[in-house]
Amino acid sequence: MTPPALPRERLRVAIQKSGRLSDPARDLLASCGLTWRESRDKLFCYGESLPVDLLLVRDDDIPGLIADGVCDLGIVGRNVMVEHELERQGNGHAPALTEIRELGWGSCRLDIAIGEDQPWTGPEQLAGLRIATSYPRTLGRWLGEQGVDASVVTLSGSVEIAPRLGQADVVCDLVSSGGTLAANQLRPVETLLHSEAVVAGPAQPLEDARGELADLLLRRMDGALRLKETRLLMLRAPRAELPQVLTKLPEGHEPTILQVEGHDEVSVQMLCHAAVTWQRLEDLKRAGARQLMVLPVEGMLA
Ligand code: ATP
Ligand code: ZN
Repeated sequence: MTPPALPRERLRVAIQKSGRLSDPARDLLASCGLTWRESRDKLFCYGESLPVDLLLVRDDDIPGLIADGVCDLGIVGRNVMVEHELERQGNGHAPALTEIRELGWGSCRLDIAIGEDQPWTGPEQLAGLRIATSYPRTLGRWLGEQGVDASVVTLSGSVEIAPRLGQADVVCDLVSSGGTLAANQLRPVETLLHSEAVVAGPAQPLEDARGELADLLLRRMDGALRLKETRLLMLRAPRAELPQVLTKLPEGHEPTILQVEGHDEVSVQMLCHAAVTWQRLEDLKRAGARQLMVLPVEGMLA
């Protein structure tokens, strides 16, 4: 029997040390009010404003660190998390991780790509071919679902040049704009997984003080993610034009309407869920609105 883990008072969050997810992950945590003191080796950052420490690692190590209880939360691509869980499953282990939040950035797809001049008739075309990938379990699962027997060539990087090097016939790789594929004369034909950065945590809820810290952090994260999109729209309008103006308001919270003292005018303010387009402002102006203003929102507590 393994002895019960010692209670830990501090929450440990793993993020990518350097790469596509590292800056946005740090920015997100900073927008939650976290500040840190960096260690000399820059692998560990001691949380100053809250007992929340950061561990800076390779993204591939993040799921394992959470599964082993070394870290409590991680910010990682869904692709990496799914691959880790399928590997555990393949080894007969129970799921270790759960996706707690999707973060809306770091978006990409895990796609099958073939030579750009080759025709594509469907997954059965892959039978007997060699497919290069860094995601062998995710690819294996998909091939199984398609009932296709192909051989999987696992590479840790530079997957897109494998066909030119004669290591594989086609690839299964991450794609965002498609530029890298095109540069290697490949074109995407099937999508196995839609990915983005997520907050990953243990399948079993956190106990002791860390559970509460994680809840606090996630609540702040939700606020920060919502704020990033939120704008305050302000305008004035003659009272007679108000009904027209109201029909042109964008999606958002219920507007607050105030009488402007000494004028037959109202002032309208409203929180919008997304950026307000120029088109929208012009429509509002045509409907009778004046002095239109769109402001970013720095903080919000309902
Ligand atoms: P590490 O040194 O941490 O292992 P890496 O080379 O594996 O770095 P990055 O290339 O920084 O990692 O990608 C990290 C994550 O960014 C990917 O796992 C994926 O979730 C996401 N991502 C978004 N767009 C792309 C893309 N076009 N190519 C690769 N990854 C992408
Ligand atoms: Zn990696």
